[in-house]
Amino acid sequence: MEAWRRILANSIVKPKDLAERLGVDVKKIEAIVGDYPMRITPTVLGTIKETGDAIWKQVVPDIAEMDDFDAEDDPLEEDLMSPVPHLVHRYPDRVLLMVTNQCPIYCRFCTRKRLVGKPGFLKKGELDQAIAYLRAHTEVRDVILSGGDPLLLPDHLLERILKALRTIPHLELVRLGSRVPGTLPERITPELCAIVKKYHPIYMNLHFNHPDELTPAVKKACGMLADAGVPLGAQTVLLKGVNDDPEIMKRLMHQLLLARIKPYYLYQADLTKGTNHFRTTVETGLNIIKSLQGHTSGMAIPHFVIDAPGGGGKIPLLPGDYMVHMDADGVLLKNYEGKAFHYPQPKLGATRELPMVSAGPSLNACSNGEHDDL
Ligand SMILES: *Cc1c(COP(=O)(O)O)cnc(C)c1O
Repeated sequence: MEAWRRILANSIVKPKDLAERLGVDVKKIEAIVGDYPMRITPTVLGTIKETGDAIWKQVVPDIAEMDDFDAEDDPLEEDLMSPVPHLVHRYPDRVLLMVTNQCPIYCRFCTRKRLVGKPGFLKKGELDQAIAYLRAHTEVRDVILSGGDPLLLPDHLLERILKALRTIPHLELVRLGSRVPGTLPERITPELCAIVKKYHPIYMNLHFNHPDELTPAVKKACGMLADAGVPLGAQTVLLKGVNDDPEIMKRLMHQLLLARIKPYYLYQADLTKGTNHFRTTVETGLNIIKSLQGHTSGMAIPHFVIDAPGGGGKIPLLPGDYMVHMDADGVLLKNYEGKAFHYPQPKLGATRELPMVSAGPSLNACSNGEHDDL
């Protein structure tokens, strides 16, 4: 068995093992894991420092998960947008393909709580169906492998999927969404990197929520992927009691950049049943973005989005106060320090698109109005 499989098998999945290690009430945990499974890898267990800290909250089952009566199992209506099994086609040019229900850890706030934890990977026949769909849909240029966690697939199955996808001529990008580098860094092996390298362009968006998750071993795993030519992004979920604080979020973003990961999305928590105790107000997220914008590297700032309930997709939100006023003359702007600035609009009329350089003969030739479309 590969080393990472042994390490994954040493994760905590049984309530009594969790009780032994963390001193929790076995009965309470047992009442939850029947519905919503638990798995805590050695790396994640090792980063828990105290009861109820930011890592603990993400992975230790909480009885509040069972008190969530009103919420829906599938608020994003992914199941309704699935033309073939395991494939979600919500946007015009890209699709999500869920290749497994297994994850290295089971996040207590998971959007796909209804699905995760069941054994098995995408079956051969299901892959064939997905490939046939993609081959027929020439508008799809971007496939996101998700789940569950695609990096839990054994190397040969991951390669089978990548190889099949690369037989589709109109498919440009393959992306993977994964929490593996941050929770089971041993999975990032030279063999895995060698496979990934063969199917570029491959992008990965890695899931991180707290700066303590970026241990030296995790950073090393991310570095191996980056060295294999994979551009790394991060997806972060805004979570009450975990990272709903501007200072923690800034530290996380800085740690990500140090690990060669570009922050991509910061998600407002979804309405999924069993996760509502993690939700924050929308203002919390906007204030965090405001506290970053201008105050630190632009590279450190993710897009803050809400995945709209009812299947509207991701909608970006920006703090409202940067643009005070806009009309045909110009915009009144406020910078991160609250200072006001005026930016004039270009004057309307035939000459407004002229280049502001000392134009040579050829440029003058274009500026007589005959070539407005240049
Ligand atoms: C998030 C998501 C995508 C990808 O969206 P991007 O904004 O391109 O990252 C595609 N399909 C589904 C169903 C998604 O939820």
